[in-house]
Amino acid sequence: RKWVYTFGNGAAEGSAGDRDLLGGKGANLAEMASLGLPVPPGLTIVTDACAWYYKNGRSLPDDLKVQVLEGIKGMEHATGRGFGDTAQPLLLSVRSGARTSMPGMMDTVLNLGLNDLTVEALAHNAGDARFAWDSYRRFIQMYGDVVMGIDHEVFEEILEDEKSRFGHELDTDLSAVEWQHVTGLYKEMIEEALGEPFPQDPHVQLWGAIGAVFASWNNPRAVTYRHLHSIPAEWGTAVTVQAMVFGNLGSSSATGVAFTRNPSTGEKALYGEFLVNAQGEDVVAGIRTPQSITEVARIDSGSDKPSLEKVMPEAFAEFGRICDRLEAHYRDMQDLEFTIERGKLWMLQARSGKRTTKAAMKIAVDMVAEGVIGEEEAVLRIDPASLDQLLHPTIDPRVERHVIGSGLPASPGAATGAIVFTAEEAVVAEEEGRKVILVRVETSPEDIHGMHAAEGILTTRGGMTSHAAVVARGMGIPCVAGAGTMRVDLRNELLIGMGVTLKKGDVITIDGSSGQVLKGEVPMLQPELSGDFAKLMEWADKARRMTVRTNADTPVDARAARSFGAEGIGLCRTEHMFFEGDRIHVMREMILAEDEAGRRTALDKLLPMQRSDFTELFSIMHGLPVTIRLLDPPLHEFLPKTEEEIAEVAAAMGMDATFLSQRVDALHEFNPMLGHRGCRLAISYPEIAEMQARAIFEAAVAAARETGAAVVPEIMVPLVGLRAELDYVKGVIDRVARDVMTEAKLEISYLVGTMIELPRAALRAHVIAEAAEFFSFGTNDLTQTTFGISRDDASAFIPTYQRKGIIEHDPFISLDFDGVGELIRIAAERGRQTRPDMKLGICGEHGGDPASIHFCESANLDYVSCSPFRVPIARLSAAQAAI
Ligand code: ADP
Ligand code: MG
Ligand code: MG
Repeated sequence: RKWVYTFGNGAAEGSAGDRDLLGGKGANLAEMASLGLPVPPGLTIVTDACAWYYKNGRSLPDDLKVQVLEGIKGMEHATGRGFGDTAQPLLLSVRSGARTSMPGMMDTVLNLGLNDLTVEALAHNAGDARFAWDSYRRFIQMYGDVVMGIDHEVFEEILEDEKSRFGHELDTDLSAVEWQHVTGLYKEMIEEALGEPFPQDPHVQLWGAIGAVFASWNNPRAVTYRHLHSIPAEWGTAVTVQAMVFGNLGSSSATGVAFTRNPSTGEKALYGEFLVNAQGEDVVAGIRTPQSITEVARIDSGSDKPSLEKVMPEAFAEFGRICDRLEAHYRDMQDLEFTIERGKLWMLQARSGKRTTKAAMKIAVDMVAEGVIGEEEAVLRIDPASLDQLLHPTIDPRVERHVIGSGLPASPGAATGAIVFTAEEAVVAEEEGRKVILVRVETSPEDIHGMHAAEGILTTRGGMTSHAAVVARGMGIPCVAGAGTMRVDLRNELLIGMGVTLKKGDVITIDGSSGQVLKGEVPMLQPELSGDFAKLMEWADKARRMTVRTNADTPVDARAARSFGAEGIGLCRTEHMFFEGDRIHVMREMILAEDEAGRRTALDKLLPMQRSDFTELFSIMHGLPVTIRLLDPPLHEFLPKTEEEIAEVAAAMGMDATFLSQRVDALHEFNPMLGHRGCRLAISYPEIAEMQARAIFEAAVAAARETGAAVVPEIMVPLVGLRAELDYVKGVIDRVARDVMTEAKLEISYLVGTMIELPRAALRAHVIAEAAEFFSFGTNDLTQTTFGISRDDASAFIPTYQRKGIIEHDPFISLDFDGVGELIRIAAERGRQTRPDMKLGICGEHGGDPASIHFCESANLDYVSCSPFRVPIARLSAAQAAI
C-alpha cells in the first residue's frame, strides 16, 4: 500500500484536499510545491501509519521503510546531496502534522543526518564552520530531547555554564570552536545518562525521529489539547521528512513567521517577525527579540531593529508576492513559516491563520469587497459562538490582571462594581445610580430583581446550569458561577478570595468569559455592533430560513432583543413578573388564600399589573409575534423558606407566622419539577389562567389601539401531556377571549398552543395538535424528562460522565440529537400530519446553541427562540445551517 507521498520541484503527489491523509502541514506543502513555490523537497508519511505504529508495538511497516528510502532518493536527486554522504551530506527535518493544526503540541527534529563526519563536510561546503557546529549542537539537543528523552533543560544548563565561562551573552556570540566544545559536552552527557552514545548512523537517526513523532501524538500535552478541542485520538499524525534549508547560515540568512493580514485587527497588511542567522523556533522561543517584517510595522512598534523589508529587500519582495498568491489561492488569510538561506527564500508552512473575532469579521467583509469570496462564504467563515466576545464589554487585553478567584464562565462579558451581598442592596444601589456586583453563595428566584439591578453576578456555588447562570445568560448580565476558591461570609459581610479579604462596598471586576474574579476596577473595551458586524448580520439574514425570536420576560429584555434583531418573542415567562417590586406580596396573598373567593380578590389586584406588562411588551414588539406562557412553576417557589423568612413575611402581611408556616408545609412537594406545576395549576385553579388570559387580551386591545399594529398573541400552555389537559385550559382561554372582545368591540386574532416538554406530549403530538395551533419545544424540560435527569442536580455527575467518556456533551447545553432530537422529529412530523401549517419553534436554552440550531434547521422548525444576547449568534447559526 501507499504510505508515502512526495513533493518538490514544482510537483507533488498530494494536494491541499488531502488533509486527512497527509495532515494539514503535509497537504499544504504538497499544494505549495504544485503551485511552483520554492519548497524544499520532501515526503509525507500518511496518518494511517500512526495507527499502524501503535497497533504493532510502536514499530513501522517494512514497505513503509522502503518507500521512505525511495522518497529520500528523490530528495537526493533534487538537491545533489546524499543522505549520510560524508562529502555532500543531505540533512533532513522530521516534522509532525495532524489534520487540524495543533501548534507546538507535537515534536519536530531539525538537522537530522549530522554526525562527527558530516558536520565537517557541512562546514567545508558552506565555508562556515560556525554554522555547521551550531547546526550539530541544535540537532543533538533536539534529538536528545525528542527521541532519547533527555530533558532540554539539561542541555540548556550546559550551554549556560559554557556561555558564562566563555564570557558570552548571546548564542550567536559563540564561535565554531566553542560550539564544537559544547557539542562534545552534550554527547558526553548523553552517554553518561543513557549508557549508550549519541547515534552516528543517519538511518538509525531517521527511524528514531519518525518513531518519536508518532509517539509524540500521545504525549500529555497533545492528549490534553485534543481533549480540549474534541480531536479524536484515532486521527493520528502524519510525518513529513524534508530537506533542510538553513536560516542560520550567516547574516544573509534568516527565519520567520508571518500572517498575510493582521490577526488581531484584520487589517490588510503583512504582519510578522523574523530573526537573522537563526533557525526553527528561535523566533517564538524568545531567545532574541525578533524584528518586524515590514517597515510600517517596525515604525509602529517603535523598534530600532531593521525590518526584513530593509535588510533583505529582494527576499522580502518575493515573499510579498507569494503571500498575495497564497491568499488568492486559498481565498483566506494565511499563517506562513519561511526561511531565507543566503538570500534565497524557502516556504516551509502555510495554513489558515487563527484570528480574533473582530479580525475574522473584518477579513470576511473585506474579502467580499475584494471579490475573493461571496457573501454566503463570508457568513460561513464566522464562528457563531465567538460573537459572544463582541456583544459584551470585555477586559482590555493589554492590562495586567490581579486575579483573586475564579469560577465557571457562566455568562459572558465583564463587569465592575462594588460588592453587595443581597438583592435588596443591589436594588437600592441601582436606584441611587451606583454600580454593584451581586455576590451570593447561590441565587434563587427571589433574587431576580437584584440580579437585574446588578452589573454582574458572582456565586461561590453552582454550575453552568445553576439558577444564577441561566438567569444571568438570559439577562445578558456577566456572571461567574461556582467560584469554589472564594468564600462568602454573610454574617460579617466579607468575600474571601486568594490572599485577600474584601468588604461590602469594595470594588471587584468579574470576567464572565474566563471565569476570573479581579480586584478593583479594570479598563474595558466596549462592544461595537455597527460596521462589519452589521454587514455580516445583513448577509446572514438574507441566507437563513428560520426566524429568530427571543426569550424575554421584561421590557428591558425585549428592547435589548429588538436591538439585536429579534423577530418576536418566543417565550415570555409570566412568573418572573410576579417577583417584581411589591407584586410578590399580592402573589403570596393569592397563593395563601383559603378558597377561590380569596384567590379572586388577590388576582383582581394582579390583573392590572400583568396587563400593563403585556401592553408594554406588545408595543415594543410592534406587531411581531409574542408567545406568552401561562404560570408554570410550583407555587411554593413564591413563598418564604426558612423560619426567619417566614417570620418576616408573616409580619409584613399581618399574618400569623404559625399559619404561614403550615401553609408552606402544605404546599411542600417531594419532587416539585414533576409536581403541581404547569397546566396542572391552571386546571386546579382556573381563575389564575382566567386572570392571565384576560390580562393578555386586554393588553392586546390596548396595544392595538395605541400602536395601530395588530398584535397576534400566542398563548402557550405549559407541561401538557394529555390532550384533555389542553382542551380544558383552552376552554378557559377561549371563553375569556370572547368576553374581552365583546366588551372591547374589537376582534383580536390569537393562537393557543402548547409547549412540548414531556415525552408523552411528543408521542401524542398528532392528537394534541387537534387542539394546539402551535408547538414550542421546551427543550430544557424535555431533556430533563427524557433523560430523567434533574436539571438542578445534573452538575453533580454530568462532568464525571464527560470525563469518563459516557457522554460527550452536556445535554442541557447542546441538544441530544439521538434521544431528545428524535422526540422533536416525531412530534414535528405527527403534529404536522394533523395540522400541516402548524408553527413549530424551540424555546429552551438550546435555541441559542449553534449545534442545536443546526438540528432545528434539519428538523424543519419555523423558528428558534433564545435569550436576547444570543440573538445574533442564532441569526448567524441559522444562516449557516441553511447555506
Ligand atoms: P510546528 O508544527 O511546531 O510548527 P514545524 O514542523 O513547522 O513544527 O517545525 C518548526 C520549525 O522548524 C519551522 O517553523 C521551521 O522554522 C523549522 N523547519 C522545519 N522544517 C524545516 C526545513 N526543512 N528547513 C529548515 N527549517 C525547517
Ligand atoms: Mg510550524
Ligand atoms: Mg418547562
